[in-house]
Formats: sequence, structure tokens, C-alpha cells
Amino acid sequence: MSRPCVLVLAGLDPSGGAGLLADAEAVRATGARPLCVATALTVQTTRAARRFTPVDAALVAESARALLEEEDVRAVKIGMIGGPAVADAVAPLLERHRRLPRVVDPVLAASSSASLFDGPLPAARNAYLRLASGALLTPNAPEAAALLGIERLDDPLAAAALLGKGAGAVLLKGGHLPGNPTDFLFRPEGTERFSEPRIPVTARGTGCRLASGVAAGLALGMPLREAIVAARALVREYLQSHLSV
Ligand code: PLP
Repeated sequence: MSRPCVLVLAGLDPSGGAGLLADAEAVRATGARPLCVATALTVQTTRAARRFTPVDAALVAESARALLEEEDVRAVKIGMIGGPAVADAVAPLLERHRRLPRVVDPVLAASSSASLFDGPLPAARNAYLRLASGALLTPNAPEAAALLGIERLDDPLAAAALLGKGAGAVLLKGGHLPGNPTDFLFRPEGTERFSEPRIPVTARGTGCRLASGVAAGLALGMPLREAIVAARALVREYLQSHLSV
């Protein structure tokens, strides 16, 4: 049981398509151990999300604190938080552990379009940006636009402005943009692109898996770029597995 741990705070999707169960799969597949704290319970099937209820924020923070104190946590991944209360409850704790690499996936809605944040958009923006302070933020194009307070992300390079909102680095996931999906990594020192031919399937939870794969790579001591390359390979493998069913 000596594998480095990733503390994952995310929503529970009982179908396993996305959320905590998908996160745990990606962390294990990368070679680290997931510690999973549910921030919200969702009602969903493999087809669509229906509704959710946030978990008591004090319980989430207490659980995260206990795991941080007693387990070998080397990275933190935050996915769906469900509402502002979880951000308020865990931000001071994460601030005390700011040396741990942190990956924040700003989950606002499911691909079936159901909202996954209970509150107005400005509250969601503040909550996720607060958690992403100094962290790797992994939005898709609609999430990046929402966090920037703009209607649409017409130019992917515009997502670099999220660095000015406190993120330590930004990995813009290009799956929602036309053409071959290109992910952009924005860091204060420059921009890198990662591009491969599109795999023509729709599969749930790719964003969760990518962010958790990166967090696991960081927990294992990989440099950020290497962790991203490994996590992208993991997601491609997951997508390929949908081609053959
Ligand atoms: N449910 C939970 C708990 C999630 O965290 C997410 C996305 O991160 C989703 C659902 C949405 O997944 P999808 O976009 O694959 O519908």
C-alpha cells in the first residue's frame, strides 16, 4: 500500500461514466492510489445526468483533512464541486497544502447539458477560480469561456487569460473545438500544443479521466508535460475501447 496517493474531490456518478469512479480508474491505471471524497451525489445513467445534491461541505472538508493528515497524498484533483459551499470549506485547507500539485477540472454541466453546479454562473466562476489558484486548470472551451466571463471561446489562445486569473497553468481541452482536437497548455513561460487525429466516438468522462491521469502522473513525480502526455494516451486508449464495442 505504499503507492503515492491522489486525493480526489469530485461528484459521484453511479454509472461510472464520469466523476469519482472514472477518476479512480484513471488514477489506478497511471499507477497511483485514489482517495475519493464525494462532493455531490448525482442521479445519472450511462446516457445522461438527471439531478444531483451537494454533500455537506463540512463533511467534505473533514474527510479531505483526515486523508491529508494520514495518507501519503502527493497530488490533489478537484472535479465537480456542486456549489460554492465546498470551495469555501476546502480552500483554506488546500491553501495549507499549497505545495501539493493540484489539478482543477471546472465542471459546470454534463455533456447531456444538465447543470452540475447549484448557483449562478458568477458564483461558479469564483468558486473554481479560487480553487485553481496556483493549480493546473483544465477547462474545455465552454468552461474556459464561462470562467473568462465571455459568451464563446472563438480563439483558443484567449484561454491563456486564465493565467491572469490566478491559475498556475491552463490545459485547454480542444475536444469541443472543430477539427482535430488540439489541447493547449498555457504556462507563464509559454504555450504548447498537443494534437492527434480525432477518434470518432462520443464517450463520457473524458475530462475527468484526463485531469485525474495528470494528477496521478504528478503524484508519481512526473514533470507536468510528461504527465499530460501520459494522461492523453490514457484517454485515447479509453476512447479506442469504445470503437470496438
Ligand atoms: N457527473 C460528474 C460527477 C462529473 O464530474 C462530470 C464531469 O466531469 C459529469 C457527470 C459529466 O460528464 P459528461 O460530460 O461525460 O456527461
